[in-house]
Amino acid sequence: MENCLFCKIAAKQIPSSIVYEDEDLLAFKDINPAAPVHLLVIPKQHLATLSDCNASHAPLLGKMLALAPRLAEEAGCAVSYDADGEPGGGYKTLINSGPDGGQEVYHLHLHVVGGPRPWRGMR
Ligand code: ADP
Repeated sequence: MENCLFCKIAAKQIPSSIVYEDEDLLAFKDINPAAPVHLLVIPKQHLATLSDCNASHAPLLGKMLALAPRLAEEAGCAVSYDADGEPGGGYKTLINSGPDGGQEVYHLHLHVVGGPRPWRGMR
């Protein structure tokens, strides 16, 4: 898409801090982080919102979601368990869809937001 910010990031026409890339996906640091770790996972293919996806996109969406724990691990905010089995660490995975969903950039993206609290809230 010609005027899409994240298509331009995927095409490397606009710089970003890339943390992961494969043939389908790109993950990069959010420019205005809401927490110590704030990454965005995008499909390289332009899809404006989650509502532009259907069952044929399930493998792509699954791949985006499955990447989140891997990125969290690398960023040091994976869920971990202490000797008593108590969970620690962690992160949020979030997709904003449409104006009422708080979406500002109309290229599908999964937020991965984590690290030690407190964080500022996300819209
Ligand atoms: P919201 O801003 O409400 O979270 P979105 O869910 O559409 O709306 O998220 C867009 C995200 O893209 C924001 O977190 C914003 O900081 C981020 N962003 C905007 N421009 C860039 C950029 N050039 N590089 C990295 N992240 C960006």
